[in-house]
Amino acid sequence: MFEIVVLFDGYSTKLPNGSMDANCTCTLIKGPKLIIIDTMTAWDRGKLVQALAEHDIEPENIDYVVCTHSHTDHIGNNNLFTNAIHIVGLVVQQGTIFFEDPRIPNEGYELCSGVKVIATPGHTVEDITVLVETTRDGEKTLFAVTGDLFEKEEDILEPSIWKSLGMPELVKTQSVMRSRVINLADFIIPGHGPMFRVSHTMREIVKGQIIE
Ligand SMILES: [Zn+2]
Repeated sequence: MFEIVVLFDGYSTKLPNGSMDANCTCTLIKGPKLIIIDTMTAWDRGKLVQALAEHDIEPENIDYVVCTHSHTDHIGNNNLFTNAIHIVGLVVQQGTIFFEDPRIPNEGYELCSGVKVIATPGHTVEDITVLVETTRDGEKTLFAVTGDLFEKEEDILEPSIWKSLGMPELVKTQSVMRSRVINLADFIIPGHGPMFRVSHTMREIVKGQIIE
């Protein structure tokens, strides 16, 4: 059994001068392992420590830090978690030892029973999604913490949002990965917006957006 806690909802807004005001969604998975997904910007250290303390968690209690990709708004506080194994994109690191884990782009890398990291490239070449299988109201439920594969719920009806933020040469890949993940998930926790429940209509729309 897992408890999925969104510590902070991400957001993103384009400013009139062309720069972005954005921060990522930060998610805590409480179960047999303590997992934090995306650690926001370097300026969020204090509020992240405080949010964890509200769950009686010290940074050194965290077992895994997972960053959906290595953009600065997703990795800013990784160094709070020095007892954890860090997974940043496809790379698994502990201290000075790091390697690319071949399970991530293949069958998936299981962090503990029910939690798995899979490769979902598109926004960058190294994006990963965390799949958490748990029970909610007696029903098997799958949560997908997708990073910027899904920017926010609105990007389903407005695909220009995710297309303009990802790598142009990966648009086709991202369109395929989005459909794959939304077909699996009951809930999506996107990179820069609140969690949303997946509907059949959403799956159809995203399927229709696959670029052949
Ligand atoms: Zn982002």
